[in-house]
This record gives sequence, structure tokens and C-alpha cells, in this order.
Amino acid sequence: MSLSAARLLRPQEKPRRISILGATGSIGTTTLSIVRQHPRQFTIEALTGNSNVQLLIEQALEFRPRYAAIANEDKYPLLKEALAGTGIEVAAGETAIVEAAQRPCDWLMAGIVGIAGLKPTLAAIENGVTVALANKECLVSAGDIVQRACTRHNATLLPVDSEHNAIFQALGDNDLTSVETITLTASGGPFLRLSKEELAQVTPKQALTHPNWKMGRKITVDSASLMNKGLEAIEAWHFFPIEKDRIRVVVHPESIIHSLVHYRDGSVLAQLSLPDMATPIAYTMQWPHRLSIETPRLDLAAIGALHFEAPDTDRFPCLKLAYGALHSGGAAPAMLNAANEEAVEAFLENRLRFNDIPALIEHVLSTLTLPPPATLEEVLETDRCARECARNWNN
Ligand code: NAD
Ligand code: MG
Repeated sequence: MSLSAARLLRPQEKPRRISILGATGSIGTTTLSIVRQHPRQFTIEALTGNSNVQLLIEQALEFRPRYAAIANEDKYPLLKEALAGTGIEVAAGETAIVEAAQRPCDWLMAGIVGIAGLKPTLAAIENGVTVALANKECLVSAGDIVQRACTRHNATLLPVDSEHNAIFQALGDNDLTSVETITLTASGGPFLRLSKEELAQVTPKQALTHPNWKMGRKITVDSASLMNKGLEAIEAWHFFPIEKDRIRVVVHPESIIHSLVHYRDGSVLAQLSLPDMATPIAYTMQWPHRLSIETPRLDLAAIGALHFEAPDTDRFPCLKLAYGALHSGGAAPAMLNAANEEAVEAFLENRLRFNDIPALIEHVLSTLTLPPPATLEEVLETDRCARECARNWNN
């Protein structure tokens, strides 16, 4: 539905039936904190988690979904026992997560991290529902497939990532022909001022301390390497298909301006708010209307000054690698994503140094030649090959 057509609709009076994939993560718990503020406006169909069964149980007891699924099958007995007698249907395993995505609902949060979110997110899209997309790895690896599925099944995909949500808001009713460039803002992460030599020594603990945002582990490391911004440039191109070199990045350490749209007449529109994912999530939950939420408000006088600088791709080569994959197209973005997931995991387990993250990704991209994946199965096969190549890397 177009933005202008949707605006004419009245806010829904009936409660919206919603499902949350990745309910136990950072995006999932923030989404539930908004539901908690509006108990009459939302009912929950399905909640899913991976291994944090205790949190999933607490969430199920508080929010009473019809269905609760845990990906890790070893945790199934705990979930089953804790929810026995509640009337909540429980299930486990990868197929149970896909089933959660297929259950009828009005709105679904795709909040699983990584390529693990692709199958269930596509299942939700095939169900023709409104999908709020936090899982950027889906669009990076399978953007064309995801967008084609949206068209075929009349599903609406709304951007949750703060930058893409900001662009979506700043675009309003304008069409992309009036856009000259799009600028994604990047906080620069915790290592913005470190030299190359210092970057070689950083630990997972330091990488997991983001200056502005509280997020899951993988995206926090991606923010420190600037791969997050690279993935977001690819994500932006799928959401807002303009020429690739018209998607730019500027470092903005305060994370107040979440992205900007530059129009052909010289106007620049941006969206501002404090760095809190509740705001972009809430925007998708009642789109095209706005939901009142309790979140600290922006006070520009208290902040005083906003700063901007060009990204340094010499110290942060992941950004350059991602732009290379965006321009190459074909299998490159899925390979980049898979190699990065492997590299981040190895870094978090102290098997890889921080500055070897881009080295490993570059190795995978330059070693493998794979055909452009045209189906979900082909994307998953590309992902598998790239991971295998990454695991076999001996530097
Ligand atoms: P997180 O690690 O906090 O949570 C991840 C969720 O995915 C958890 O609920 C976990 O149980 C689930 N999960 C993990 N592996 C799974 C598997 N194999 N099968 C089923 N479920 C699995 O991550 P997050 O920070 O909430 O990020 C989620 C997604 O949203 C990522 O793609 C991230 O890039 C994107 N995103 C997050 C933020 C943020 O502020 N956290 C902002 C923008 C975009
Ligand atoms: Mg973002």
C-alpha cells in the first residue's frame, strides 16, 4: 500500500495481532516493552527464541502468546514443562520457528540475527503480512528474492534499522526520482579514534562496549568494524533502489541524526531522535500512524553540538569491502555476509584478531567464484560455501 493511501486509513481500533521472531533479543525485548505500554492495542500470536529459554518462558507467561517456539531443541523440555497448563502451544527446532512465522497475524517483527532469520522472514512474507524488518542480513544476502516475494504475496516490508527507518520517514510521499543522494550516518563505534596498530590489539570486551547503542553482540561488533554500515548500505539499496554510488556514509558520533535524504532541489530532510530503537520500532508498529511511547525526548540545547566526518576506510576496511560487494552484486553480498558472520564469531571466541575480520572476508571474496543465487536454497548454498572457505583460512 502506498504511504499516501495508508495515511487515509484510521488507526486500527481492533487490537493488532502480532508475532515476534527473536523475542528474547535486543530488538525483541524492546518491541515487547512497547507492547507492555499498550496492552489493549496488541495481542501476541507467536514469540520465538533461540537458547535463552528462561526469558522466553517469562515473556510467554507475561504476554500469553498462542504459540512459543525455541530454536534450540535441547531446551524444549524446559519450555514445555514451564508452560504446561497455560494453553500456550509450544514447539522447538528450526521448523517451529518457520511455523511461528507462518501463523496468522497483522504484523510481524523479523528480529532474528543473521542468516538464521532468512527462512522464517521469507515464510512471513509469503503469508502476506506486514513485516517489520530488523534482520538486515536477510536483505544483504537475498534482497532480490525478498523483494520479489513481497510483490508476489502483497506483503509490506517496513524498515526497522534506525537509518532506513529515518530514510523512510524523510522520504514521506516523495518518489525516488526526486532523490539525489542518501546519507547513512554511522556512530563510528568504540574504536573511532584508534590507530591501525591499536586496532590490532582490541579485545571482544572492548568491541562489545558501544558508546551510544545497546544491541546484540553480533551487530555491536559489526558497528565497531564499520561492517554494520557496509551491510546497511546494501540494505539501503534494496529498500531504496537508487544508483549505488548515490548511497553515502558520514560518521556522526552522537547518533542523533539517523540518516538524511538529499533532494534534487538542494533540500535535505533527516530524522532525529535519541539513540533508542524503541522509536523506529514504534513507527513500524502503527504505521502510517504514530504510537505514543515512553522514551527520553531529544533536547538539542542539552546536547549542544553535533559532529560529522568522513569515514576512514583505511582503518576500517570492512566498509570498503561491503561497498565492493554492493557494486559487484551476484553472490558477493551473500558471501560477504556469511564470511563476516564467521569472522565475528571467531573474534568473539578469541580465535581471530579484530583486524583480521576484514582480512578473512577479503580472502573469501577473492577465493570463491559462485553463481548469483536465484532461490532461497541457492542463497543458503552460497552462505554454506562461504562459511566453509572462511573456516579453512589459515593466515
Ligand atoms: P540479539 O543477539 O540481541 O538477538 C537475536 C535474536 O535472534 C534472539 O532472540 C535469538 O534468540 C534469536 N536467534 C539467534 N540465532 C537464532 C537461530 N539460529 N534461530 C532462531 N533464532 C535465533 O540481536 P539484536 O541486536 O536484537 O539484532 C537482531 C537483528 O536486528 C540483527 O539482524 C541486527 O542487525 C538487527 N538490528 C538490531 C538493532 C539493535 O539495536 N539491536 C538495530 C538495528 C538492526
Ligand atoms: Mg542501524
